[in-house]
Amino acid sequence: MNTPRTRAGSDGLLAKLMETVRPEFRAEVFCPPRDSPVFFPGECRIPACPTTLTMGRLKLCRTHHHRWAAAGRPADLDGWSAQEDARLRERRQVSACRVSGCNRARAAHGLCHRHASRWNHAGRPLLESWLGRTLYQPPRKPWSAERTCDFPDCPRWTDSTDAPLCHTHHNRWRKHGRPTLDTWYDDLAHRGDPKIRLDQVTPALRLEFQFGLQHRLDEGLRFTPARDVRRAVTWACEAPITSLLDWDESTWRDHVAPPGPGRKRHGHNVVAFRFIADTRFALEHLLIADDPWADQYPRDVWDLRHFALAEGETRYLRFGPIAQLWLRELVKRRCRWRISTNISVKTVAQSLRSLAHLSAHLPAHAAPADLTRARIETWLAALAVDYPDVFTRRATVNSLGRFLANARAHDWQPVLPRDAIIYNDAPPPPPAKPRWISEHLMRQMENPENLALISTPLRLDLEVLVKGCGNEATGLLVDQLVAKRVDQALESRCRRSLSSSG
Ligand SMILES: [Zn+2]
Ligand SMILES: [Zn+2]
Ligand SMILES: [Zn+2]
Repeated sequence: MNTPRTRAGSDGLLAKLMETVRPEFRAEVFCPPRDSPVFFPGECRIPACPTTLTMGRLKLCRTHHHRWAAAGRPADLDGWSAQEDARLRERRQVSACRVSGCNRARAAHGLCHRHASRWNHAGRPLLESWLGRTLYQPPRKPWSAERTCDFPDCPRWTDSTDAPLCHTHHNRWRKHGRPTLDTWYDDLAHRGDPKIRLDQVTPALRLEFQFGLQHRLDEGLRFTPARDVRRAVTWACEAPITSLLDWDESTWRDHVAPPGPGRKRHGHNVVAFRFIADTRFALEHLLIADDPWADQYPRDVWDLRHFALAEGETRYLRFGPIAQLWLRELVKRRCRWRISTNISVKTVAQSLRSLAHLSAHLPAHAAPADLTRARIETWLAALAVDYPDVFTRRATVNSLGRFLANARAHDWQPVLPRDAIIYNDAPPPPPAKPRWISEHLMRQMENPENLALISTPLRLDLEVLVKGCGNEATGLLVDQLVAKRVDQALESRCRRSLSSSG
């Protein structure tokens, strides 16, 4: 199947993508927006854990799910979560200097900078005994006075009045590249968020992935885990392609999950594959959105999603099985006309299958003039063998009848023989099933207890109804019984409320 790219060219696609992909998707590293359920299904239930949710039912991240399983899967999930939260907060807490009364962060030997320097000056005596005789005293120089660390929820002191952070947080900030403090806090708050690196793919391919991510977000329908998109990016890097449209869907499938023995595919990341397939489709649609018919009509397979007409399983109309080119063209023309008159695509697809069956019956090089009444009669005989089911055969025969009538009415094929006609050729429908009521239902209906539930006038009406309609009346009967029970329930509730108010 050729792709629209061959028609529009890669330059056309690039220009359209440059117009379409919004600036927030243009970064080399894509950080999904946190408020989008497409990328973030939720956060881990441990409040101190910054990881986004991956284990949906328990609302635990992967790490905490493992910890919960290792703890013996406690049933009191809330209690266990509270303990885990406290443990996590404690682990994150910066330790204080061991000198009694000092709240600076530890720098070395369990002491803050100031006290470590004092201990060194004292000739490094035994630490425990030195700690026993050392008490905290505020620094004499005003600029050396401490203040509380600016880092959110950090209770430690800074090493001087000028320093905004305690010793530990200052070191971390330095290693992070000394960003502005607000940027750094924000980065840390989102450090557990998934990221999708696109810097290893070529700029044109990167733009296609960015478009795919934007499309998923705008569509807002499918959860798109970052790890699966990363898998798709890796596949694209490994493939000898410059655009996702270079390969059709089946070539991609063979690339990512080569069929093994018995044509079975193993280890197939379906979510990653669907991301590529959906992005391919969105790219194709972007290229042909101005005039989808001009692109699809010449093809032997029409993708109904381009017209927003796909219904359930009916996503494609396949004309390839019709070998006679004149017939294929005629069928295509009629399908387009029927679609334009808002006929269900399921009906159109059924009619197409009928005509493909006729085509298989005709010689491969049959001309329009060969579709004679005699040929149609041999087809009808073959149909009786191929389709023993009367309803299928009726639908198939009637499809050809309507097709021939339409072709004549619109003068689509003037060379069609005058006797190419379907008369009353469809087999008659089988007789309707007898109207009877099965024995087990009759026993229930004749049970005096059940009959007592129905008031006498209604019962007389129902008897007439059942005798007249047979099995079809049972549904009505059941409805009446249900209505009766509802009436009784309402009546008793009214009585109760009246007696209580009285
Ligand atoms: Zn967690
Ligand atoms: Zn200290
Ligand atoms: Zn701090």
